[in-house]
Amino acid sequence: MSMTIDEKLGIDKFHVDEGYAHIEVNKGASESDIKLLTRACPAGLYKYSEGVLTFDYAGCFECGTCKVLSADRVVKKWSFPKGSFGVEYRHG
Ligand code: SF4
Repeated sequence: MSMTIDEKLGIDKFHVDEGYAHIEVNKGASESDIKLLTRACPAGLYKYSEGVLTFDYAGCFECGTCKVLSADRVVKKWSFPKGSFGVEYRHG
C-alpha cells in the first residue's frame, strides 16, 4: 500500500526550539517575493493574507529553499536549528 506525501510527512517529528528562531523573515518584503515563498516552501510555512506575511519556523524541513530563493529579501536570517532540535525524518 502506498502512502501519500501528507501521510509520509505526518510521521516526521519536529523538535521545536521555542527560544531560538532559526529562520527570521522581513515582513516588509515585496509582495512578489513573499508570494514566491508561499508557493515554494514545501512545508507551507509562509502564509500571505490581506497584505500580511505570517511565518512560523516550527515544522520547517530545513531544505533551504526559502534561503536560496529570497536572497536576503524575505529571509533575514537562515541557519539550521541548534543541536537536538529540528526535523526528525522517520520514513525512508
Ligand atoms: S527551509 Fe524549506 S521548509 Fe523551512 S521554511 Fe524554508 S522553504 Fe520552508
